[in-house]
Amino acid sequence: MTLFVDMDEVLADTYGAHLELYKEEFGVQLNPADCKGKEAWQCVPEEHVKGMMSHAWQVGFFRDLKLIEGSQEVMAELNKKHEVYIASAAMQFPNSLKEKSDWLDDFFPFIPWERRILCGHKYILKGDVLIDDRAYNLESFEGRSIMYTSPHNMNTNGFERADSWNEIADKLL
Ligand SMILES: [Mg+2]
Repeated sequence: MTLFVDMDEVLADTYGAHLELYKEEFGVQLNPADCKGKEAWQCVPEEHVKGMMSHAWQVGFFRDLKLIEGSQEVMAELNKKHEVYIASAAMQFPNSLKEKSDWLDDFFPFIPWERRILCGHKYILKGDVLIDDRAYNLESFEGRSIMYTSPHNMNTNGFERADSWNEIADKLL
C-alpha cells in the first residue's frame, strides 16, 4: 500500500508548541482539553490572536517541534511493510521547508528525500491511505482517509479516526 502521512499534528506536536510559546510570552498555561474543537489562536483573548498566529512564521518554529508520542516507532514498522511518504503542506510557510527537512533527518531518517512530499494542495495525492488532522485534506482523498486526533478537530465527525499511533499500528500493521 502507498501511505501518505502528514507532519504537523500527526508526527510533530505543533499545537503543543503554540501553547508552550504562549506560556513563554504571556505566562498563561492553556490546557489542550480546554481547546477542544478550537485552533490554538481561538483559545486566547482577541489581543493575543495575532501573536499566536505569528508563531509559524518565526525562524526555528518547525525545527524545534516535539514528536507525537509513538510516531517514530510505528512509522519505522509501517515503512518496512508499506510504501510510506511524508506529505506536508509546507508551502503555506515557505520558511518551514528547510526546517521540516532537517527535522525529518533527525527523527525520521529512514524516510529518504524521495519519499518526502513538501507540497501545497494535497488533493493531488493518489494512493491508498492518507493520515492527516485536517478535514479539508482528508475529504478530497480518494483512498482511505484517517483523521489523526488533535485538539482542533475533536468535534469533527464523519471520518475514520486514530487517537494515537498505537491505533495506527492496529489499523495498518
Ligand atoms: Mg497537519
